[in-house]
Amino acid sequence: MTKTLHRVAVIGGGTMGAGIAEVAASAGHSVLLYDISAEAITRAIEGIRQRLDVRVGRGKISAEQASELLARIVPATELNQLADAQLVIEAASERLEIKKALFSQLAEICLPSTLLTSNTSSLSITAIAAGVKHPERVAGLHFFNPAPVMKLVEVVSGLATSTEVVELLYQCVIAWGKQPVRCRSTPGFIVNRVARPYYAEAWRALEEQVASAEVIDAALRDGGGFPMGPLALTDLIGQDVNFAVTCSVFNAFWQDRRFLPSLLQQELALAGRLGKKSGHGVYCWPAQVSPELAVAAVAPENAAKNIKRDVVTELDDVLLLETTGETALALSVQHQRPVVVYDHAVGDTVVLASAPTNPASATDKAVYYFQQQGKKVLRIADYPGLLVWRTVAMLANEALDALQKGVASAEDIDIAMRLGVNYPHGPLAWGESLGWGRVLRLLENLQQHYGEERYRPSALLRQKALMEMRHE
Ligand code: NAD
Repeated sequence: MTKTLHRVAVIGGGTMGAGIAEVAASAGHSVLLYDISAEAITRAIEGIRQRLDVRVGRGKISAEQASELLARIVPATELNQLADAQLVIEAASERLEIKKALFSQLAEICLPSTLLTSNTSSLSITAIAAGVKHPERVAGLHFFNPAPVMKLVEVVSGLATSTEVVELLYQCVIAWGKQPVRCRSTPGFIVNRVARPYYAEAWRALEEQVASAEVIDAALRDGGGFPMGPLALTDLIGQDVNFAVTCSVFNAFWQDRRFLPSLLQQELALAGRLGKKSGHGVYCWPAQVSPELAVAAVAPENAAKNIKRDVVTELDDVLLLETTGETALALSVQHQRPVVVYDHAVGDTVVLASAPTNPASATDKAVYYFQQQGKKVLRIADYPGLLVWRTVAMLANEALDALQKGVASAEDIDIAMRLGVNYPHGPLAWGESLGWGRVLRLLENLQQHYGEERYRPSALLRQKALMEMRHE
């Protein structure tokens, strides 16, 4: 238990408040749980009891531990009851006026030394703190859902937050068995900002009819090593919720085109096709067993007679190239021969795209070549940057942008993305291992292809690519 922050209060008994109260109580704190709705508090405590029962049933904790933990959570029906709290974590509804009113009242009720924190996902901590007495003790403590399970907590500082307060909260999060990262109050903090391209690139591929949703998801999951495909993930999060976060980040960045929301996702949200919770989103739920998506085995007679593996691979007259953000067609015109491009693959699945002018045998040769290496092959339309490369480059670019603007340290950005959304690698470490020069080239090619601001490389990416050249 954190000694200096013994008495904890949680405001809001909804999904997040209940989870946070459980986390604090299981770290040994006595927790006051306040909500404007008495029913919400009863529901929250009942929900915690049920979760603890499951853990007792699985032998994770004893029945005594569970009842002691539950006894430490005390309902509060008046805000005044929070007067003695040393740490308040507010997880009320996501409305600035609600949070501002609560914080102003808390500043009057609690001691000047009480740390006042908000679990907001999208509101500015600076705005919440404005006008509050002693704004240096106001900060963000952003837990992820479900709070008892997810390790990551973003410790968010507003303009007025003191470094001592950030340090106290950082140590408190560690004492609670969680992994803190420090970040500045900027739209989306770390995770909800850097993760935007993961969804956006998948929506774009679907809108451009490059492949089915199943193939796009399989490419990122089985080829990219992400735990879940982006479209299936939006179904789990809820199309309304995921779309609202995208819109909020887009608007908070003054409608920067890089964060442009998807019209297709808006259609789903408007139609009430919200995903798993409504039974229908991108997919029908419960999820059906998906058909075999990989290209069927190609017969040996389609094997290339002459294979040359040099900087590029040649399969007879076919050039097989890892994507650099140009279409196979553009490369085919440039080289005056059939070209097949393939994607970055960390898993056992590789994505291919063939120039539309290629003879069918060119694709077969490339498919056979990868199948002989034990790879499953997914085929998509000719699409620059394919699916995994394009997504990882965009994630790394956004992470560099956040780094350059001092949102968080490189280490914390990578930790946040691995623990907040379970990416297989931090985007900065991933970009570094792919090579910053290659990431830059891919984005420049995409920017040229579309003529859009969306793919503009971060200034820090250009610097890193140049520094990489100096060391070569
Ligand atoms: P929720 O709707 O489940 O719960 C909100 C609770 O706040 C309700 O019980 C409501 O009665 C209570 N409330 C509303 N006004 C109040 C007031 N003036 N005083 C006290 N209680 C009040 O919401 P949630 O999903 O738990 O989200 C809560 C906060 O956590 C939001 O700021 C949200 O952005 C953030 N957050 C949510 C998630 C998530 O996945 N749900 C993840 C991270 C952060």
